[in-house]
Formats: sequence, C-alpha cells, structure tokens
Amino acid sequence: MKHYQPIDSFQSPRFCGVRTFMRLPHVKTLENVDFLIVGIPFDTGGSFRIGTRFGPQAIRDVSILLRPYNPEMKINIFEHCSGVDYGDINIIPGYIEESYERIQKDMIEILKGSVIPIGMGGDHSVTLAELRAVRDVYGPVALIHFDSHSDTWDSYFEKKYNHGTPIRRAIEEGCIQMEHSIQVGMRGPLYCPGDLQDAVDMGLEVITTGDIRRIGINKTIERIRERVKDTPVFVTFDIDFLDPAYAPGTGTPEIGGFTTWEALEMVRSGLKGMNFVGFDLVEVLPTYDSGQITSFAAAGIMYEFISLIACNKAKI
Ligand code: MN
Ligand code: MN
Repeated sequence: MKHYQPIDSFQSPRFCGVRTFMRLPHVKTLENVDFLIVGIPFDTGGSFRIGTRFGPQAIRDVSILLRPYNPEMKINIFEHCSGVDYGDINIIPGYIEESYERIQKDMIEILKGSVIPIGMGGDHSVTLAELRAVRDVYGPVALIHFDSHSDTWDSYFEKKYNHGTPIRRAIEEGCIQMEHSIQVGMRGPLYCPGDLQDAVDMGLEVITTGDIRRIGINKTIERIRERVKDTPVFVTFDIDFLDPAYAPGTGTPEIGGFTTWEALEMVRSGLKGMNFVGFDLVEVLPTYDSGQITSFAAAGIMYEFISLIACNKAKI
C-alpha cells in the first residue's frame, strides 16, 4: 500500500528540491492518505495589513527543517500515518464569496475522502468556508479557537464577510456545537465590552489571555478538555495568539500574548486524543516577519497537529 512520507534528509539534503510542507510529496490524491496540508492563500478578508496570501509558501519554506520523530509526544509520525502536501486551493483574490465556494467545494471532497485537512491561511476569513464544508459532511462540530480576537464581530463597513466575522457567521449558519466549543486567548483593546460578551452570549466559552495568566496553563487545558470531550472537533489557530515577539508577521498583532512554547504545550497536552475532523492555521504575513520567526512558529504548531493525528492512529 502506498505510504506518503517526507523525503529522507539523510539521503537528500533538506534544502534540496521543490518546497513542500515538511518535504512531503506534492500529490493531489486522497487515496491512502490520513492527513493533508493545503494552502488557502486568500487575504482580501483582512481589515488592516494584508499579504497573508504568501503565508502558505513562507511556512513551507521553513517547514523543511521539521523531523519525523516528536520527542515530546514520543511518536515517529510516519510510522503511523501517511500525509501529502495537497498544494493550494485556487481562490479568487478580492472576491470573498466566490472564494468561499471554491474552498468549501475542495474541502468537502477532502473530508468525504476521510482525510483530515490541515489548512494554511490566508487570513481568518477562510475558516468560515472550511467550517461550512465540515458542517456539510459531519454536521455541526465542536470548535477550538486559539486567537487574540474572538472574530465574532457582526460586520465591518456593513459587510458580513471578512476576517473579523467568521466565527459569528459559522454560528449563525449552524456549523458549530456551541455547548462543546471554546475560544482561548482573547486580549487587546476592543470597541466596547460587548465585543467579547457577544461570544459568551452566543454560547461559547471564552478564556481570555488574562484568565489564562491567572489560572495557569494546566487549568486552561483542563477547561478545554472538559468542554470539548469526545465531540468531533475542528481546531482553528490564529498565529496572533502568540505574542508579537514570537509572531511579528501577522495582520493584527496584539501585545501581551503567549510564547511559542506555551502555545505548543496548550496544543500538545490540551488537545491530545481528541476526535479531530480538521485543523487550520491562519494569519501568517511574511512581509512583516523578521528572521522567519512567525513562519517557524506556524510550521511547528502544524507539526504538533500532525503529531496529534499520529498519536490517535497509534492509539497512544
Ligand atoms: Mn482570527
Ligand atoms: Mn486574531
């Protein structure tokens, strides 16, 4: 049976070849594939800085340094699963609703093939299209949302679709099992108290950065696990969850955030063993990145997503 894994970097220097995520084969197939990486380079849902259309390729560039054994999770990923770099979805720059249709269509095909997608944004507006596809295939699922923003605003400039609104739209459109969903990491100045209270009033659990600093990482992990339980879950990770010192390359940075290590810990221990239907990582903006810090963080967090999938396959 065909098994897709990275090129062996003892045979071929890791800087050789065409860049794919983690040197995985770029094969557009769903046969014998457990997970796939797919770029969604749409960035005209951004309200401030744009340029996240170049996020997927920037993440691929640095991901070639990732190695197959994860010592924290104690797993050799590709002994247990097969994965490919599926390439990018052909979005239409500047046309959000048409792009949503394309993302949704491709994602439905992937999900129906029983493959777990790991999407790379693009700005956070793309998550709505992914969640629509998830709803169409699985029905409403739990959502774990790491972000410094709740993305539950109603509209910007009287427009319903952009990177500040996808979670509210996903709720309105019946994509999310509210009682099992949670937002983690919110911080920074708002327009009014309602900006955060809205998410709570809609039925989400919200743990702000301030809450996490007060209760600690372990207690935060407990609350995430208690909320989601074994509900099928989609994980969306906005890189601005990290402090700008660890992720300067992003569209709407918020100071006072988390270190890369803290994020890794929340993903590893917080999500281990959950019933994943998909993941995404969004808002990497290479133009504002220094020393590829943000891309390295993104690739490393995606590596933990893959490790979580492998742990489930290995039943550890
Ligand atoms: Mn966001
Ligand atoms: Mn954000």
